[in-house]
Amino acid sequence: MNFTNLPQLVDKRGKLESKGTYSKRTKSITHRVWHHSLTLKNLGGSDAVSFADYHVNTLGWPGCGYTFVIEPKNIINTPNGKRATIVYANDINRRTYHVGNSNQFSLGICVAGDYRYDTMDEATLASIAELHAALVKDGIGKYDKAHNEMPGYSWKACCQYNYRDAFDWKGSKTPTKPAPAPDVYTIQEGDTLWSIAHKDGAGGVQVEDLIKANPGIDPTKLKIGQKINFGNAKEVIEKPENVKKPDVKVEVTPKTIVPYPGIVLKEGAKGMKAIDIKRIQRAAGMPEKDVDGKYGPKTTKAVKAYQKRQGLSQDGRVGPNTWNRMF
Ligand SMILES: [Zn+2]
Repeated sequence: MNFTNLPQLVDKRGKLESKGTYSKRTKSITHRVWHHSLTLKNLGGSDAVSFADYHVNTLGWPGCGYTFVIEPKNIINTPNGKRATIVYANDINRRTYHVGNSNQFSLGICVAGDYRYDTMDEATLASIAELHAALVKDGIGKYDKAHNEMPGYSWKACCQYNYRDAFDWKGSKTPTKPAPAPDVYTIQEGDTLWSIAHKDGAGGVQVEDLIKANPGIDPTKLKIGQKINFGNAKEVIEKPENVKKPDVKVEVTPKTIVPYPGIVLKEGAKGMKAIDIKRIQRAAGMPEKDVDGKYGPKTTKAVKAYQKRQGLSQDGRVGPNTWNRMF
């Protein structure tokens, strides 16, 4: 196995908190499913030991829910450079709990961190890329998916890093001339400020730089087609007076953009999709038991309450204004 030879791999199978064992898979692995832990990467609890403890003692699962956990706060010096530790938590033939009905054929890989706020570092990107390459060589799985690309999880804020870009990480030992950041970037569907900052091949542009260079944008309300100025972001970095890191961390919540479906969503409207109604129900804060994809009186009531909280006019319908506030 190529993956077991990775120098940053630490085998903790059978050594983490457990209560019984996960059963064997009845299907072969077709999907590699990428997660983040939604816990800030430098916190004490952002590691496999803590996840196992939480999954067993709080959720009552047999063991850690992932097969692999990548730990950015635990860096290992390897012959290839600094790498985030990869904990091998459960044997790959065990069906761990991480994507509900898809667990039988899905391999769960969690990168510790909350990438709505955390920035991905080189050592972690390297471990993602190398684990991915090894699994591909070993023939373990055919498809890569984010947790929220799996059936039933489109609402989940997981994962929030651009895993496909991470696979392309080429390594700091063989630097190729990095592609310069574009001067202006036009926002596409699915972009977050993190994924946009990553378009700077040199890796210098951070989310904070984009915010500084684009004072007119609201990072929580990115819109498709909006222009993001990279040129100024590059200057922000290059000016020596800006080298010093700000003392105050800029808190941002890069959001995935969900395009407006083009019709007003309301009770009785024709052509509404259940998935859009579920999104609305969740954004309006309805309890999960009421999230049924049907626009009825309960949804109207929840939308009105949401509109009231947001200072919008309260008609209980979701047109472009309410939609763009929600997503
Ligand atoms: Zn997840």
